[in-house]
Amino acid sequence: AKTKGHNRIDVFDPVMLQQVRDRLHLEVELRQAIEQGDFALYYQPIVNLRSQSLRGFEALLRWQKGDTLISPDVFIPVAEETGLIFELSRWVLHNACEQLQQWQQRYPKLQSVGFTMSINLSANQFSLPTLVSEIQQTLGHHHLAGQFLKIEITESTLMQHLDSACEILAELKAMGVRINIDDFGTGYSSLSYLRNLPLDGIKIDRSFISQMDRSQEDLEVVHTILVLARNLHLDCIAEGIENTTQLQLLRSLRCPSGQGYLFAPPLTPHKAEVYLQEHIL
Ligand code: C2E
Ligand code: CA
Ligand code: CA
Ligand code: CA
Repeated sequence: AKTKGHNRIDVFDPVMLQQVRDRLHLEVELRQAIEQGDFALYYQPIVNLRSQSLRGFEALLRWQKGDTLISPDVFIPVAEETGLIFELSRWVLHNACEQLQQWQQRYPKLQSVGFTMSINLSANQFSLPTLVSEIQQTLGHHHLAGQFLKIEITESTLMQHLDSACEILAELKAMGVRINIDDFGTGYSSLSYLRNLPLDGIKIDRSFISQMDRSQEDLEVVHTILVLARNLHLDCIAEGIENTTQLQLLRSLRCPSGQGYLFAPPLTPHKAEVYLQEHIL
């Protein structure tokens, strides 16, 4: 971005001006979309790599803008900057829980096999004093035990909020809710938090998985993360598995779980239910 003296934005730069307009436009549209409820949750299977059995779903947010689906990578940053993320996240939590409750009622086996629903938490939510009580209330409202909900937070969020994180995670754990570190390996962080925080597991970032069948370095990184996780008694999920070579490598490294297009992309609620029927019942 171009700036001129005193850090003022040079609004006469046409490219800059267009970017500002796009941004404002996106914000207005996002606000409208929230009012109209133009969002959907898609569900991506998380699979036990040894037995190939289904362990749970990760709920991934989509903006249904007319005929197009907009990726969260586009609108989550705007939602975070504008504070709209709080309302959006509330909607995600509520909907994911409602869907899980519905499926648990329809397919009682889900509870006995410990099928879980994972949701993504934004960094902003970590500074919300009501986060834990909101989660508790939503679980209660849907008569869900905490053990069926998993929270995914990125490594960088955790590092930003290390002080409050400790308390929040302990409270969530007391409710039975499990916590996974998302995009593990991408942040610069001290590893001591892995030992000290009440974590359930880590998700190895897709960037390591995508090259592990071609790059010796990435293979080594994945191996190291898996050994670390095992030593700390943490669960481990490999993200973005796209081919059988990656799957075989991960199985040989005894990676417990995985997720990726090889198994299924994020699915509409209807397709996710069909997947459930085929893989659990
Ligand atoms: P993430 O949590 O790391 O989610 C994984 C992303 O990788 C998803 O992108 C998923 O569709 C994609 N993916 C899964 N398997 C594969 C694969 O085999 N290959 C490739 N190339 N990609 C794969 P998506 O759904 O576009 O979400 C992007 C990010 O947006 C998420 O990254 C997450 O950080 C954020 N996000 C999604 N839903 C929510 C939400 O409800 N709340 C918040 N705060 N963030 C969300
Ligand atoms: Ca995630
Ligand atoms: Ca991730
Ligand atoms: Ca990511």
